Amino acid sequence: MPVCEVCHHHCNLNEGSLGLCRARICKGGVIHCANYGFITSIALDPIEKKPLNRFHPGSNIMSVGSYGCNLRCPFCQNHSISYGYDMLPPRPDIPLRYGTPSELVSLALSCTDSGNIGIAFTYNEPLVGYEFVRDTAKLAHESGLLNVLVSNGNASEAVCDELLPHIDAMNIDLKGFTDDYYEKILKGNRQMVMNFIEKSVPACHLELTTLIVPGFNDTDEEIDSLSFWISELDSGKGAAIPLHISRFFPRFHLTDRAATDIDLIYHLADVARKNLKYVYTGNC
Ligand code: SF4
Repeated sequence: MPVCEVCHHHCNLNEGSLGLCRARICKGGVIHCANYGFITSIALDPIEKKPLNRFHPGSNIMSVGSYGCNLRCPFCQNHSISYGYDMLPPRPDIPLRYGTPSELVSLALSCTDSGNIGIAFTYNEPLVGYEFVRDTAKLAHESGLLNVLVSNGNASEAVCDELLPHIDAMNIDLKGFTDDYYEKILKGNRQMVMNFIEKSVPACHLELTTLIVPGFNDTDEEIDSLSFWISELDSGKGAAIPLHISRFFPRFHLTDRAATDIDLIYHLADVARKNLKYVYTGNC
């Protein structure tokens, strides 16, 4: 039975079955991305919304999302497209359209008069359909556009190697700094994310985001360890990697706790500033 090697779940897929991410399928004994070219969301967003604060500030970027995700964050704000979603049967509440890489690039070029600098792969987890990101990003570069990836970073080093030459900037979630949180709550793999980040640092502009969820990852010690690890990356150049400390709101399955206290966000940002040069607060 073929095994998908894109992420830590290593799904064993029978003919015709989908992986945990609902975006990859086994067909003819080979695993493909089933969501190739299927677009659930598209918008011209300010680059700061990705969030990227130190990459072409003031510009816009055409942001596209498909469906599927390989994490199971109980507070996901995009759960309608991230999980529980696949094409069979189509969801009447979410319009799904098909766009080839060249169609998307043409659309992105048509928006340059509105300040568009390129294409951001975002909203769902782009890495579960990395083939579409790769093909579109290659064409976008050939047309002089920039490419941005917004990701949870849970993918193999092989996927990272395949994409990095085509990506100009990334925002990667580093959702916490304990294996327990990553494995038990998010169904992710912290080491895989750390490896992905380490490989990306020298290759493109990188910013990181940590959502502070009360009771899960909100201690001084955790944010100190997380920010210290970032600062040591790339022989100390990591101290200049921007970190976004973001406020949680009760959503989806996690409604048993209040939104993160704003003062705590400001305090944890100060903790991170002891190790990092650029720390921003979000959702405050
Ligand atoms: S990318 Fe999807 S199919 Fe592949 S291992 Fe991860 S969850 Fe499974």
